[in-house]
Amino acid sequence: MKQLAKASVLLDENINVLHLDEELIELEFTSETDPKKKYLVSCWGGNWKCDCHDFHYHGLNLEHSSYCCKHLLKGIMYLNNCKKSEIESDEFKTADKVVGNNGC
Ligand SMILES: [Zn+2]
Repeated sequence: MKQLAKASVLLDENINVLHLDEELIELEFTSETDPKKKYLVSCWGGNWKCDCHDFHYHGLNLEHSSYCCKHLLKGIMYLNNCKKSEIESDEFKTADKVVGNNGC
């Protein structure tokens, strides 16, 4: 799957979490080739979407399946890692005061 290889090239530093809760996720990706270019990945009600050309070209034309661009894949991996480290750090500071959602 070549999107997976492409996604693994993207850096966590290029991801900016704009919004993160149970209903809506919004991640802003800075293009690795053009720092002025940004892509918005969002997930609303379980439906993922990206505003890059790749997603627009492939993602919306299929009837019974959807396309995952590298940003979507990377976003999911990023959130997965994020959640893991949140859980791990919570175990370390169980006695500490509970800090509110710090958006990772
Ligand atoms: Zn994309």
